[in-house]
Amino acid sequence: MRLVDLTDVQLGSSETARRINRDIVLELIRANQPISRADLSRQSGLQRSTVSQIVEQLIREKWVCEGAVASPPRGRRPTLLELNDNLVVIAVDIHPKQATVAVVDLKGRLLSRSLVPLSSDPAASTRLMTDCMLRMQQELPRKSIEGIGVSLPGRVDPETQRMIFAPNLHWPDFDLKKVIEKTMNLPVKMENAASACLLSELTFRRIDGIRDIVLVTVSEGVGTGVYASGHLISGHRGMAGEFGHISLDPTGILCSCGQKGCWETFASCRAGLRYYKELQPKAREITFHELLNLAEEGDTYAAQALAKQAQYIGRGLQMIIAALSPSVILVAGDITSAWHRFGPEIEKEAAKFTLGGAFPQILPTHEGEIARLRGAAALVFQRRSGNEQQKVETA
Ligand SMILES: [Zn+2]
Repeated sequence: MRLVDLTDVQLGSSETARRINRDIVLELIRANQPISRADLSRQSGLQRSTVSQIVEQLIREKWVCEGAVASPPRGRRPTLLELNDNLVVIAVDIHPKQATVAVVDLKGRLLSRSLVPLSSDPAASTRLMTDCMLRMQQELPRKSIEGIGVSLPGRVDPETQRMIFAPNLHWPDFDLKKVIEKTMNLPVKMENAASACLLSELTFRRIDGIRDIVLVTVSEGVGTGVYASGHLISGHRGMAGEFGHISLDPTGILCSCGQKGCWETFASCRAGLRYYKELQPKAREITFHELLNLAEEGDTYAAQALAKQAQYIGRGLQMIIAALSPSVILVAGDITSAWHRFGPEIEKEAAKFTLGGAFPQILPTHEGEIARLRGAAALVFQRRSGNEQQKVETA
């Protein structure tokens, strides 16, 4: 679990430095487990006694546990340390029509996963989600559930933790956090799906040293999470990063937000399906997965529709590159499973407009939709660490 940008860290003796030292030790355990205290001391450059103190604290907090005993060629046999497999969170990834509920451990592994259908009734939908969580809790009696992370197709007010902008969900005002907390008796942390995905990449994927990243989720809508100069950016009332709702064509089709011709009406998976329908008006209604499969099977209309969607994704990235100049743009969503198709088109279109300087790397997230679940899990794990380096900064 990556918690701090190690390239920026200066060791010291203040409270902040103690916390940073703790995060360095935790990161070394994550990356090298199982590992002895002596090796932790060697690799971190910290005193043996400091490492021992930190390890005791991490064991008390249940992050870390003692596992196997090593067999060195000579001398005392040290007890090795590893991340605590029993520490888990419930992760929820909400889409307009369904939610995925999963149990995720500290290593980012999914221990169980279930799909829950959602309706326009938030109370009934939430009950289905909590029923699923209760079932999972019963199925894993030995695990210690630390909290619930929820990834949403919308924005969350950092102050009130209520959803303030979720145009694709069509839910009336509803205190999702409070209802889940009351039913499950566990703390709930909510975040926009793109920001949660970005946090997951920062947490579970090792991208140390990169300080400017934009993550773009492409699903029913288009969302972005922004990591600029080493900080996650939430903006005033959590609304930063709504590039998906910048209008590219004021005469375009109506967007769920009420405007016309927003980027997401051209670049989302719904747009891909619309392009296919325009080329094949008599075709039956299909899902985006089916569209991807059709293209792979050689359907030229499906391939054309996806190419058009990819071009519009690339065109929107021009705005992001001009506004934020990231060194890496990560793309998440089902389209990553067809990256050989999307990647080159997106890059070609984005590169048509450059202001100079280095062009960013455009990369898919490794696990497609799983990234959103891991992001929801990272919300809880990060908060638990009390880490200041990753604190979401209000711009
Ligand atoms: Zn819009």
